Amino acid sequence: MKFLLETHGCQLNQAESNALETILTSLGGTRTDDPYEANLVIVNTCAVRISAENKIWGQLGHYSNVKKTHPFTLIVTGCMADRLKDEIKRREKSVDYVIETNDKLEIESLVLSKELDKKSQYSFTDSYYREGDISSYVPIMNGCNNFCSYCIVPYVRGREISRSAEDILKEIDYLESKNVKEITLLGQNVNSYKGEYCKREINLSELLTLIIPRLNSIRLIYFESPHPKDFSDELIDLISREDRIAKHIHLPFQSGSTRILKLMNRKSTREEIMGLVDKMREKVKGLTFSVDAMTGFPSESEKEFEETLSMMDYIDPTEAFMYFYNPREGTRAYDMPSQISEDVKKERLKRLIDEQLERQKRQKKESLPFQENALYLSKSRDNDKEALLKDEHNNHISIIPLKKHLPGDILKIEVESFRGNTFRGREIE
Ligand code: SF4
Repeated sequence: MKFLLETHGCQLNQAESNALETILTSLGGTRTDDPYEANLVIVNTCAVRISAENKIWGQLGHYSNVKKTHPFTLIVTGCMADRLKDEIKRREKSVDYVIETNDKLEIESLVLSKELDKKSQYSFTDSYYREGDISSYVPIMNGCNNFCSYCIVPYVRGREISRSAEDILKEIDYLESKNVKEITLLGQNVNSYKGEYCKREINLSELLTLIIPRLNSIRLIYFESPHPKDFSDELIDLISREDRIAKHIHLPFQSGSTRILKLMNRKSTREEIMGLVDKMREKVKGLTFSVDAMTGFPSESEKEFEETLSMMDYIDPTEAFMYFYNPREGTRAYDMPSQISEDVKKERLKRLIDEQLERQKRQKKESLPFQENALYLSKSRDNDKEALLKDEHNNHISIIPLKKHLPGDILKIEVESFRGNTFRGREIE
């Protein structure tokens, strides 16, 4: 069997696709990127933005055309399958199965032609590792209870469910046996993790404390995506003292205006977010941030948008995921009055992005020259005489002349310049 697995959206979708790939490979399947070779095509979808859904509709149309001359089984799964199950079946007759997120792992039963066993609850698989990778996602929870007023996730992924700590530790041991170098603990609201360990409930800090002593080849742990309201002092202290936890935090603050944050149901004020940033900077040496920031939420005034710009200045992120508000039917913000025009949303986003690009350029310039330990990822795609490396805090990519390196090697490098978003340097030891 040849299968094509197309993944859209978040890291959790990517992790779940990795698990599906491992299962399908263990059943004798071979992955292909060519639908004309495939017997099975799985589209793992995202419903967070209308643009993602539009792209997926386009892909389904493409696969329908291919099916006219080359028959295969077409499965649609993921968040769009949850949100638009009936519409997908109605609009795209060539789709054979629409499988909701909770039932994703039942694709295995389908491939083995077993009866589909409908689950009422999300279940985690044993491992999300993809053979040969040096980094791996480790989903630790799924779903979200926060109901931010713009977000579809709680409606499509459901309420929070945490994976048991025993199962997570088993996966960590497995990743160690595979010589994995870094892991990212994943969850829609990862710092509200409440899993079971020895029949009692533990939080993210306690889980990290159980994971760290088991690490040998895994040198760094990241976690995504945290919610600013769920950063406990215990967690910040742990990040500051443990070398194995990356000193790079993702802080999805979304807006710099307290009024907009309230309308978004983010449960934090501007001052609370700034206070959190101060506390983290004071406790965690060398900490850098990445952020999520949104423009054009309903009724956002120019002055409130400028508070988002000033929040960016305050946090000084080294990376930013910036986007404009995208109305999603079924969410509370969809029906809010004073929706902002596309032109204004886009114009504000452009200013946000322009400032961030300037900020990143300035940060890079100020940091030169420096030395660091970096993880060798692969040859550069553009030049096979160059090596691509990642710094230990997930902060930047560097390029050096390639020697006999193997993916996963840790190299000591001197960084001397940068071009665009990428540092350039040389190996020094
Ligand atoms: S925290 Fe808010 S934005 Fe994040 S997944 Fe939950 S509802 Fe969506």
